[in-house]
Amino acid sequence: MDATLTYTKAVSINRISGAETDATAVLDRVRSFHARMPALSLDSYRRTIIDRACRALLNQAAPGEVDYRLQPHVIEELKRIGDDGLPRYIFYRYRYDVFPLIHELDAYPPCVQIEPTSICNYRCVFCYQTDAAFTKGRNGHMGQMSLETFRRVVDEIEGEVEAVTLASRGEPLLCKQITEMLAYLRHKFLALKINTNAWYLDEKKAHAILDTEPNTLVFSADAADPELYAKLRVNGTLDRVMKNVRRFAEIKAKHYPDSRTITRVSGVRYSEEQNFDELEKFWHDFVDQVAFVDYNPWENAYELPANGKTEPCSDLWRRAFVWWDGRVNPCDVDYKSALSPGVVGKQSVSELWRGEGYGKLRSEHLNDGRQGVTPCRSCVVV
Ligand code: SF4
Repeated sequence: MDATLTYTKAVSINRISGAETDATAVLDRVRSFHARMPALSLDSYRRTIIDRACRALLNQAAPGEVDYRLQPHVIEELKRIGDDGLPRYIFYRYRYDVFPLIHELDAYPPCVQIEPTSICNYRCVFCYQTDAAFTKGRNGHMGQMSLETFRRVVDEIEGEVEAVTLASRGEPLLCKQITEMLAYLRHKFLALKINTNAWYLDEKKAHAILDTEPNTLVFSADAADPELYAKLRVNGTLDRVMKNVRRFAEIKAKHYPDSRTITRVSGVRYSEEQNFDELEKFWHDFVDQVAFVDYNPWENAYELPANGKTEPCSDLWRRAFVWWDGRVNPCDVDYKSALSPGVVGKQSVSELWRGEGYGKLRSEHLNDGRQGVTPCRSCVVV
């Protein structure tokens, strides 16, 4: 791999406001940490990866290593992490950003997305929740994760994985045991993220989230205009969501003034009617960041025509999803599990990540076989 290869692939956020773009102070901390590294107690694998990451960030990458830069939201996260958390964060983030570029693997995915439930109260126009074959009860895709499955997954990955996202195909705050799940996550993962449409974000759930102190809490909202919001986020109303987010901000300011949780409104860039400046203006008093992500046509992934892409998919080296029934899946574009390598319980997350099913899929992607795999053949993720 050429040292001059510019890191771009992992950039999923198309536009963001409210995040730090000046990396100088963070890089000074990385430099000072790197100088202290020889005295730190680290296992040899972690030491090697963290050393590689620090040198890449400090423009000292060796020939053949990737030239690595921090995105604004990563700078913002690093600013809120103490020096004792730096090695854990750098180990995770470098693997998350760079391993998919160089197709490197180790025992665990850099990120695990856990789905408390696949059920959602919304039917957003760009989401697979509009696919009746997915939402129809008798087809077996709908359900809520048991606490037992949740704890088994968390117990296995604690200390091995830092990035855990609580969300996938459904609305996590709709899960009946979400407060117990949140409490179980407390202080276990440095890069815990929760995605929610904020419809069920009442006072009790706001405290449960803030007690757990995720790194990032993402509110999905795509418009500043009530009509446009309702058109895109079918079954939702901007008024209720805005009130819930505002109350959350008030509770955070009053009861958790030192919270390191970053709040972000994130919209899907789907229609010409959307306006990022209006979205930013509307939300910026209530959240730390406002962002737009690119639309990925996943609401009909199985029916779309083949797109001719042959580039290997980065998700196969970046993250794994664990769905409510323990099923592991490489992505949620494949929301009906055609690509699933198996179920947690019979095997561990790590065994599945390194196992035959994942291996075959990676090999197909690496050997120009992506177009022979459904739904990868029509998916835009690279
Ligand atoms: S469908 Fe295939 S190409 Fe698309 S995100 Fe999933 S694994 Fe990657």
